[in-house]
Amino acid sequence: MNTLPAPFEERMKKQLGSEAPAFFKALQTEAPVSIRLNPGKYREIHSIPLPGRQTSAVSWCENACYLAERPVFTLDPGFHGGAYYVQEASSMFLHHILKQLLPARPVRMLDLCAAPGGKSTLAASLLSPESLLVSNEVIRSRAAILKENIIKWGHSNIVVTSNDPRDFRPLRETFDIILVDAPCSGEGMFRKDPLSVKEWSESNLQLCSERQCRILSEIWDCLKPEGFLIYSTCTYNPEENESVLSWLLRTFEARSIPINHSFDSITPGEADFPCYRFYPHKTQGEGFFTGIVQKQTASSGLSRKNKKQKFSKPEPLPGYLQNYLLRPEQYITYRNENITGIVLANHAEFIRQLEQSLRITYKGCEIAEINNRKIKLLPPLALWQGLNRKACAVYEADLKTALTYLKKEDIPAIPVKADWLLVSYKDIALGWCKNLGSRLNNYYPKEWRIRMDLNTDKHPES
Ligand code: SAM
Repeated sequence: MNTLPAPFEERMKKQLGSEAPAFFKALQTEAPVSIRLNPGKYREIHSIPLPGRQTSAVSWCENACYLAERPVFTLDPGFHGGAYYVQEASSMFLHHILKQLLPARPVRMLDLCAAPGGKSTLAASLLSPESLLVSNEVIRSRAAILKENIIKWGHSNIVVTSNDPRDFRPLRETFDIILVDAPCSGEGMFRKDPLSVKEWSESNLQLCSERQCRILSEIWDCLKPEGFLIYSTCTYNPEENESVLSWLLRTFEARSIPINHSFDSITPGEADFPCYRFYPHKTQGEGFFTGIVQKQTASSGLSRKNKKQKFSKPEPLPGYLQNYLLRPEQYITYRNENITGIVLANHAEFIRQLEQSLRITYKGCEIAEINNRKIKLLPPLALWQGLNRKACAVYEADLKTALTYLKKEDIPAIPVKADWLLVSYKDIALGWCKNLGSRLNNYYPKEWRIRMDLNTDKHPES
């Protein structure tokens, strides 16, 4: 790790007092490695072929564990198939929060600052299938990895958007839960990200704080009355944390919400309202801060009615494709140029409303590309939890073949009479191959392929 900036050290000494030496010592150790299982693909952590030796569970998140050391995740097909997500443990506290906040009825949730998708995939696993998650990332280059991770997680009740927070303004009082995992100075990631050490400065910290308030003020009207806003950062300083929440509570009609827990390792924030801080010398994880507020009354400002649009009746999915869906009756189809996809029928109207204001980059599940009656099955269908596996001819690959497939190279043909083969490794679907009899066409997406040379021992992670 780069040498810590002197003003940061001074701040932390003041903030932590006698605990400061333990904090600085923890920063010199390796960051723990933790993963969170995809319960839609594996029911429990014991059933998954883990990419490394599990040491202990993450206390505040079901089906999440620490690994004894960092494996080369790129070499594990399960990583590419969305069997689990590599996520630092402190931020998995969102699981504990959502367990307390989520009502029994379906909700609409917005994850405003979502890339690369750690918290969106966590939320997706907890939301009911009738709920809808809008997962947004403003930075276009980061929006691509968000979309990839969402597709691999395999839910069809997610819409991925790439918008500035201000673009959400027309969606007044729309969301039951908004998560603002705000862009921040990244102090909590110093162990993992040397660049954040280099870029740290007092002035950047002030800029971050102002931007955080601006983001919150732009999105506040989109929260329903009684709805919850979860604010989080990966920093320690009060300017980006307690001060921002305090400003929010002073500016809008909101009350702070405590989260019940019995984890001694979590430090209460320095405020007269409940908030929670995670330090690496106390928790097995990185720096993290969170606090929750609930909207008290309707927001101010004029309600902007969304224009009602007439949409053509959705075309039915061709019968051949319907077989691939476990519950075809629940969905309606959409066409986007040559791409045919599905969304849950009870989300369709809301998604149409979103389309009037937002740049949607992905919705539901893309099923097939249809060109002059020629059908090409698409990767999201293979990775989707709603795929009817019984309709598929499955190519169960060994490790070498699975990695060759993920590199988008040729894999050996097998004697089977089917046009399309679902390539799978230890029951985790990876993608499609077109069967040409004597050979197979590899349809793994080029932009997702493993770029690493599998024959060398230099193993950079993807
Ligand atoms: N929630 C993500 C996860 O768990 O994987 C991490 C989010 S990261 C802390 C903050 C995100 O906010 C980044 O992806 C960043 O690109 C995005 N961001 C940057 N500037 C923003 C802005 N002005 N408004 C909204 N989001 C912004």
